[in-house]
Amino acid sequence: MRFDDKYIDYKSKSKRELYENLILFKLLSKPKLVSIGKYILKICLFLKIPISVIIKNTIFKHFCGGENINESIKVIQTLSKNNIKTILDYSVEGQKNESGFQDVFNEILRNIEISKKSSEIPFCVFKLTGIARFELLEKLNNKLVLSDNESKELDSLKLKLNKICALAEKVNTPILIDAEESWIQDAIDDLTEKLMSKFNVKKVIVYNTIQLYRKGRLEYIKKIHRSAKNENFKLGLKLVRGAYIEKERMRAKKNGYNCPIHNNKDNCDVEFNNATQYCIENIKDISVCFGTHNLKSTKIAIELMKQNKIKNNDSRIYFSQLLGMCDTISYSLSKFNYNVAKYVPYGPVKSVLPYLIRRAEENSSIGNQTSEEIGRLKKAIKNY
Ligand SMILES: Cc1cc2nc3c(=O)[nH]c(=O)nc-3n(C[C@H](O)[C@H](O)[C@H](O)COP(=O)(O)OP(=O)(O)OC[C@H]3O[C@@H](n4cnc5c(N)ncnc54)[C@H](O)[C@@H]3O)c2cc1C
Repeated sequence: MRFDDKYIDYKSKSKRELYENLILFKLLSKPKLVSIGKYILKICLFLKIPISVIIKNTIFKHFCGGENINESIKVIQTLSKNNIKTILDYSVEGQKNESGFQDVFNEILRNIEISKKSSEIPFCVFKLTGIARFELLEKLNNKLVLSDNESKELDSLKLKLNKICALAEKVNTPILIDAEESWIQDAIDDLTEKLMSKFNVKKVIVYNTIQLYRKGRLEYIKKIHRSAKNENFKLGLKLVRGAYIEKERMRAKKNGYNCPIHNNKDNCDVEFNNATQYCIENIKDISVCFGTHNLKSTKIAIELMKQNKIKNNDSRIYFSQLLGMCDTISYSLSKFNYNVAKYVPYGPVKSVLPYLIRRAEENSSIGNQTSEEIGRLKKAIKNY
């Protein structure tokens, strides 16, 4: 198969929208501007200057579906027209109190219910820190003794997780659990492994996320694969490189421990591609979702599928990219009948800001990809 820009559905946007995207990517291609923008944004928020409208009509419009599921329907339909599915991601982050956690929990359940009625939504997704206190997860991670209140909090979290997975099982929509900072990830892994052993017996309902920018994660995959075989359940895995590299490095330096992240990008790429190979070669036990924008890794995955005589649209293998990023990969994969789904973040503009800031920083740091995107948009405007 060929990956080609010509498969991207630019016609679903107006020429004006394409110009707006072009301006956005030109701004994002300037790292200094992005970091100044970040500070201006913080000052505006602090001074309560109403900038939501400006954000909603610029960066939000490009990277998010809408402020709620209804507003995201247009995006879902456009993707679906192109044989690309949607993973609705309620991207409200940094909840601090029980009512915030409850809101996110309710929204996850609502999302799963909606997926029941829609063949366009193959997975639901959530972050554990959306429904649980970071400090509780950190304490669990460090295997510290919990207070009575914390034990109750943990029980309530387990109940919520079981409710989410039971509903996902009932409506037959698998659920992806995102990976987060390494100092809470062991806790997330433990909770997720228990859910997989309970819900993944007949088919895969629960997917854990593995960050291959961390050292030793392929070994971890092999370890849980052995447990899954011994205990007769299947693994669901989303493979990603990892989104918290700066934070991980800074914390390791500050606290004087060895950074868990690979020493360089090449090692990270090797680990990702080896994990890809391991999952595909063990496809009878492992369902996998490749969450990547890396073309080389995507090509490796499809070549391995071919070598292992796996059909392009085998339901155990999905590819996923974020809305507004790497459309060439998504649209080309869908053209050749691979299963592909976009993460479509949504939520109130203010609550989605941390996600948008990560996207802005990521796009300003991947200079090559951003200038390719600018080139593509210029071509699309010219040929409109
Ligand atoms: C659908 C989807 C779901 C995702 N879910 C999660 C999630 O649950 N948790 C999460 O943490 N991230 C998640 N991500 C983000 C992901 O981890 C990456 O940040 C992002 O996709 C960029 O990596 P890439 O594979 O696309 O490729 P590339 O652009 O080739 O790789 C960039 C990545 O490589 C790694 N890297 C860069 N430089 C170095 C270096 N010097 N040493 C070691 N490693 C390096 C970093 O992880 C960096 O983000 C998700 C991404 C997608 C597309």
